[in-house]
Amino acid sequence: MSSVPSSNTVTPNFPFGTVEKSERGLPEDWDGEAIPIRSLSSPKEPFNDDELLAIKLPGTLTSDDEHGSAACMLGGRALRRILATPGFPQSPPQPSRSVFELREVAGAGLGLFATVDIALGELILCERPLLFSPSWSAFVTFPPEYPLEKIARVTRHEWEKYLAKVLSHIPETRRAKYLALTNSHLHDGSGPLFGIKRTNCWSSGLEETIHPREGVSEQAPYVMVGDLSSRVNHSCCPNSRVLIHEPSFSLGLRALRTIRAGEEITVSYCDILAPCETRQRALARYGFRCTCAACSDPGKSDHIRAYWSKKGAFDWSDATFNSAGALRVISLLDGAGLQSIPQYRSFHAMAGTVFAKEGKMQKANKYLGRWTVLRQVQPGMGWAE
Ligand SMILES: [Zn+2]
Repeated sequence: MSSVPSSNTVTPNFPFGTVEKSERGLPEDWDGEAIPIRSLSSPKEPFNDDELLAIKLPGTLTSDDEHGSAACMLGGRALRRILATPGFPQSPPQPSRSVFELREVAGAGLGLFATVDIALGELILCERPLLFSPSWSAFVTFPPEYPLEKIARVTRHEWEKYLAKVLSHIPETRRAKYLALTNSHLHDGSGPLFGIKRTNCWSSGLEETIHPREGVSEQAPYVMVGDLSSRVNHSCCPNSRVLIHEPSFSLGLRALRTIRAGEEITVSYCDILAPCETRQRALARYGFRCTCAACSDPGKSDHIRAYWSKKGAFDWSDATFNSAGALRVISLLDGAGLQSIPQYRSFHAMAGTVFAKEGKMQKANKYLGRWTVLRQVQPGMGWAE
């Protein structure tokens, strides 16, 4: 294969629609090869930064504990970063009590439902992922001018092969859990393993160059596919958030507000401040149309969300704010189901600070306490450098 212009290594925009059988598999004119992936039985074996590796983590360092291990597809650099994480590999932190059950949801498979009132910030679950892999990378060098449609076919084919090899590293029981997850990519040419990954992955927060080539720098984000965390359904008014706990190589779910017993536990799969129609387009890849409170009344919710989308960070120099104003904003964001946006947190700090200045310490402590908890339910704690 000749050298590749970087424009040919961009992510092909996979169709979400139907792909005919004749358009699946490798194109007849394709004779290239994907970069090899090497299985490691332990990270103590030597490996290079630029190698693509298949390994089970952390089970190669500890005996497989009750939390299981993840099938990992990753570059050598990413493996070094994970191994250097302070505290790795700990056991995943566990909730202090059982707070949810799995139930069938009409048209949405299984969902998680609160069995007790869950408090703001409470840990709902924490689990090792079944799969850890790059979100995306073109592991194939394509000839110049090679059609995007064929690039997509080659790439889907190679990803399926990679995932079969990577998932063979975990026990049959863990693999069965992976295969039981929802696949909303049944008709777009994705194989079953790749389709499940595309349907269920969460950002891991780790980005790392996988296989640098001349003229191409690929800083690939890595994703995790969990078991229970993959069963959480979407809402544009989410009441929980997925967080990554690096020292235990796990992903967890924490409440963004009080969740009442019987309520479905939800997270957001898209930008919740985007207009309703934009959100529905983004969610179409998961094969459903959202019917949450915000989507049921876009005339009202789009207006509020557009405002907070443009508003940006809270301006602390704005002298017009007072505790009553902050409480009004908190109440408005509560009503709109927007507890996940950063401004919600900021207005708790603002209310607490103003109440403290006014000498109203009980109220100050209430809002500053909630601000402290909300800070812990934020993404982006970052991997060890
Ligand atoms: Zn919605």
